[in-house]
Amino acid sequence: MAPKPKAILFDLDDTLLNTYRHQNPEELWREVIEQYAHVANDTDGAALANAIQQSAKRIWESLLESKKQRWQSMGEIRRSIVRRAFEDIGQKNDDGADHLADTFTKRREDSFHLADGALKTLNHLREANIRLALVTNGASTSQRWKIDRFNLEHHFDHIQIEEEAGFGKPDPRAYHHAMETLETEAASTWMIGDNYHWEVEAPQDHGIFAIWYNPTNLDVPEDAARDPNHAVEHHDAIIDLFEASRRER
Ligand SMILES: [Mg+2]
Repeated sequence: MAPKPKAILFDLDDTLLNTYRHQNPEELWREVIEQYAHVANDTDGAALANAIQQSAKRIWESLLESKKQRWQSMGEIRRSIVRRAFEDIGQKNDDGADHLADTFTKRREDSFHLADGALKTLNHLREANIRLALVTNGASTSQRWKIDRFNLEHHFDHIQIEEEAGFGKPDPRAYHHAMETLETEAASTWMIGDNYHWEVEAPQDHGIFAIWYNPTNLDVPEDAARDPNHAVEHHDAIIDLFEASRRER
């Protein structure tokens, strides 16, 4: 059975907020490239599409190597990718490239939306006086932008963003710092998120009750060391589990 929680740590991306981080954005790229192909004097956009793919591969590889640049926003990274692609097909045009990249970024961001039932769950837990933390990896600018846009800040006692904190999941400090701030202990803490390693396995290593948020019903990864303490496909199931844990006592 689930222990009655005093505090709950929530992941943001693809848990409270659908950003479709793991979804292949190929179709959106295709649409935006088609719209801007003429800017690169590329009739059908095929050369540009190929150049963007190659440039993205190179730039992501170098970003992953150099930790220095890891807090660049996705928007900036996309601009670099597309600028380089224009150059690679002999059509250097930074303004045109930026327009294309920004159109992609805008359309991608416009598709972000709160997960079904997420606010209801946060409100329910809040009314029950559960201490809540948002523990999210990533850059301050991009994560703060999402938190502001969806007015999430007031739902939480503590907001912990990797760049601001100086550490992120699965670093043990990410979990311990959040629990210290909420004045809770692992035995009465839940963590909820979609990333099997960051929000299930790592928190479980520290004795936290881990709930895998798995709306698309994925299988437990083959290399997983253990099963989650609990798995849910919808936020409403978190409320059900919480109410069951309250009845236990
Ligand atoms: Mg996530």
